[in-house]
Amino acid sequence: MTIEKFTFGVGDRFAHQGRAQLEAFRKLEADGVVVVPVWNKSNREHTFIGSEPASVQAAAKAAIASLAWPHGWHVDADHIRLETVDRFIATADFFTIDVADSIGRPSPAADVAAFLARHPELVGEPSVAGVSSPIRTTRAQVEACAGKYLLAARDAGRIHAHIAAAKGGAANFIAEVSMDETDAPQTPPELLVILAALADEGVRAQTIAPKFTGRFNKGVDYVGDLRQFEREFNDDLAVIAHAVKSYGLPASLKLSVHSGSDKFSLYPIIRRALARTGAGVHLKTAGTTWLEELIGLAEAGGAGLALAVEIYAHALDHIDELCGPYASVIDVDRSRLPSAAEVAAWSGTRYANALRHIPGHPEFNASFRQLLHVSFKLAAKEGRRYLDLLVANESVVARNVTENLYARHLRPLFVG
Ligand SMILES: [Zn+2]
Repeated sequence: MTIEKFTFGVGDRFAHQGRAQLEAFRKLEADGVVVVPVWNKSNREHTFIGSEPASVQAAAKAAIASLAWPHGWHVDADHIRLETVDRFIATADFFTIDVADSIGRPSPAADVAAFLARHPELVGEPSVAGVSSPIRTTRAQVEACAGKYLLAARDAGRIHAHIAAAKGGAANFIAEVSMDETDAPQTPPELLVILAALADEGVRAQTIAPKFTGRFNKGVDYVGDLRQFEREFNDDLAVIAHAVKSYGLPASLKLSVHSGSDKFSLYPIIRRALARTGAGVHLKTAGTTWLEELIGLAEAGGAGLALAVEIYAHALDHIDELCGPYASVIDVDRSRLPSAAEVAAWSGTRYANALRHIPGHPEFNASFRQLLHVSFKLAAKEGRRYLDLLVANESVVARNVTENLYARHLRPLFVG
C-alpha cells in the first residue's frame, strides 16, 4: 500500500460529518487538485468519547459511498503505541507510530558505537542536495543525536513489526513515525540521523512527523518565526529526499505536519515548498470539525443554541480539568473569556463569530475557541441530545464543516 502524494488528515469526533468533510475534498477536486482524505482518531480520543476504532472506518466508508469518491482514502490509528495498537489493527490502514516518549532515553553505548560504525557518512559533511546551507556535523554531535533517538527508532521498529505481523506484511499498511509530542523540535540534521536509524530498524515509514520549530497550539494559528519554519521545512524536504536514496526508505516517504489545526500562516509556505520541490505532504488536523458542529448549532438557534451556550457554561465550570491534559498545546487567557451570563445573552451569530476562526474578525476570541476545543467531552456526555441536534440541524452544520475545511484549509494549502 503506497500513500498518495497529497493526503490530509481530518478528525470527526462524533462520526457525523464524514460526508460534509468529503464534500470539501470534492470541491478541491473540482479545482483540479486531488487530495486524499485520512480520517484520524487517537486512542485517547476514543477513550474520552467512548467510541470504538471500527466506527471511524464505518463512517468513512459511508461518506465514500454516498459521494461515490473515486480516489483513495485511509483510516489513521493516530498516535498509537505497542500497548494501544491492537484494537486498531482490523479497521485502520494507516498507523501513526508515536515514539516521542522514548526520545532522550539513553541508548547503550555499544549500540551508539555500532550505529556510528554503520554510518560513517553522517559525520563531517553529508552531501544533502537542496539544503539552505551545508550540513556539517562532528562525531560527538552524531553520537549525541544517536544516543537521543536510537531507542525511539528501535521502539518504532518493534511496533512496526507488530503491525506488520498482524496485517500480513508491511506492504499492507501505511506507517507513519511521529515524534511531535515532545519538548524540543528536531532539526534537519537530527532528522537525517533519525531516518538512517529507522531504516536500520526496518521501519518502512511513508510519512514522518517531526516536531517543528514554533508553537502549534490546538485550533489556532502558528506562533513562531515564519522564516525559520520555512528554512527548516525546506531543509527537511531535502533530507527526506536524500534519505530515500541513501537508505532505501520507501520512495513515497514524505513529511507529515501534525498541525493541531488552523496553521493558516504556514499554508503558503508549505504550498510554495511543495511547488518548488515536487514533494508530497501529509497534513494532519485536530478535531476542530466538532467546533464547526457547535457553530452550526449556535447558528441554528433554538435548542441548538441553548446547548452550545450550556456547553460553554459547563466548560467554564470545569476549566482546570478540561485544559489540564492539553496544557502544553493551548494558551487560554482567562481574562479574555466571557462570563456564562454574557454568553447566555448572545445571539447565534454572535456565538458563531466568537468561535469561528477568522483571524482579524472583531468578534473572534481565540481563548473562547481553545477552551471549547478541549471541551468535546462535555458534548460526548450529552449523548443522544447532542447527536439528535446534529441530525436535526444537519444542513447548517454540514455547510460550516465543508466551508471551513475547503475555504480555510484545503484551498489555501493546495491551490492558493
Ligand atoms: Zn501529533
